[in-house]
Amino acid sequence: MNLHEFQGKSILSKYGVAVQRGVVVDKVEEAVEAAKKLTDETGTEWYVVKAQIHAGGRGKGKVEETGSNGVVLAKGIDEVEGKVKGILGGHLVTAQTNGKGKKVNKVLIAEDVYYPGESETSEFYMSVLLNRESGRNIIMYSTEGGMDIETVAEQTPHLIFKEEIDPRVGIQGFQARKIAFNLGLSGNAFKQMTKFVVSLYNAYEGCDAAMFEINPVLKTSDDKIIAVDSKVTLDGNSLFRHPDYAAMRDLTEEDPTEVEADNAGLNFVKLDGNVGCMVNGAGLAMATMDIIKLSGGNPANFLDVGGTADAERVEKAFNIILKDPNVKAILINIFGGIVRCDRVAQGVVDAYKNMGSIPVPIIVRLQGTNAVEAKKLIDESGLNVHSAVMLQEAADKVKELLA
Ligand code: GDP
Ligand code: MN
Repeated sequence: MNLHEFQGKSILSKYGVAVQRGVVVDKVEEAVEAAKKLTDETGTEWYVVKAQIHAGGRGKGKVEETGSNGVVLAKGIDEVEGKVKGILGGHLVTAQTNGKGKKVNKVLIAEDVYYPGESETSEFYMSVLLNRESGRNIIMYSTEGGMDIETVAEQTPHLIFKEEIDPRVGIQGFQARKIAFNLGLSGNAFKQMTKFVVSLYNAYEGCDAAMFEINPVLKTSDDKIIAVDSKVTLDGNSLFRHPDYAAMRDLTEEDPTEVEADNAGLNFVKLDGNVGCMVNGAGLAMATMDIIKLSGGNPANFLDVGGTADAERVEKAFNIILKDPNVKAILINIFGGIVRCDRVAQGVVDAYKNMGSIPVPIIVRLQGTNAVEAKKLIDESGLNVHSAVMLQEAADKVKELLA
């Protein structure tokens, strides 16, 4: 689950990571009041107005309606309202969104931390994530902060450092010092950085995160080390342990079909092909997508209906798949291990009849317990449903029906 910048920063603060402070608003009328409050708390007289969307590259991104960037500086309280107006409610298009952009429902009014001038500051990159190869968390960091890390990796890979953390002992003091040293810091900034690194790592572990990315980490002109941005992904499987973080979920940022599927207990990921897939089991779903691709088609989704593929679930799954106008055929691939194939077949037939008509051909491949009975049920249903025995045969049928 992804968080907004302001939510990520609130978690970081809780763990003692210094952050660029701010107040979040969702109405233009609240902006000036929020800025005043921030000045009372921080003394800042300049403000940074930042769109809160689940995508990076906001600073360089453009709000479609107004032409404003997604992160802008207000040099004084009288500029705040105008800058907020330019962002709030608009659609922000960045390198990480699609062409339509993302609707900005909230903006963060943050303190300016680049005082008195940018020449005195340095921007670093730092992230914590799991290295799946070594099975350990790593801290990835670079002197080249503020820019796209993919570009740094491509053009100057020697400027990206990695520090692996031993899970048995957690982050050690010498590792934090090594990082501060590699970033070229000394004196108070060095000390602040070691504290920053340890707190950041503890935050990552403490909230069961899948990733923390802070870009830029800023060294201010007076040698503070602070998180200016935060991109946080929490492990969805651990949210039951963190009800307060689970409540941070912003459904408006998610694909509506995926939310609907989630509510129905279906494991669904939308893709951009034209063959809808309905499969039980994640592994079989992956294999099904592979064979569709190998046969020249393109999967429109990943959908795992789970172990209890009854008529109701099958119907729900049909509905969700058919919301996508690109879908030209549906491939149902079910292995009847726990669930009986004839029960699934009956589910397909019932769902089909309930829905009146389904505008695309359906190819059903049922294998396992009672597969023969299932095939008979499908073949005798008189519906626009084609049955297949082997997976390759099913994929070939899809291809043939799409041609
Ligand atoms: P992103 O573009 O979505 O990654 O958003 P960031 O939060 O990283 O902000 C983008 C850029 O805005 C940063 O790289 C900074 O250069 C700039 N910025 C952020 N905060 C401040 C600030 O307090 N003062 C000034 N002058 N610039 C800032
Ligand atoms: Mn950033």
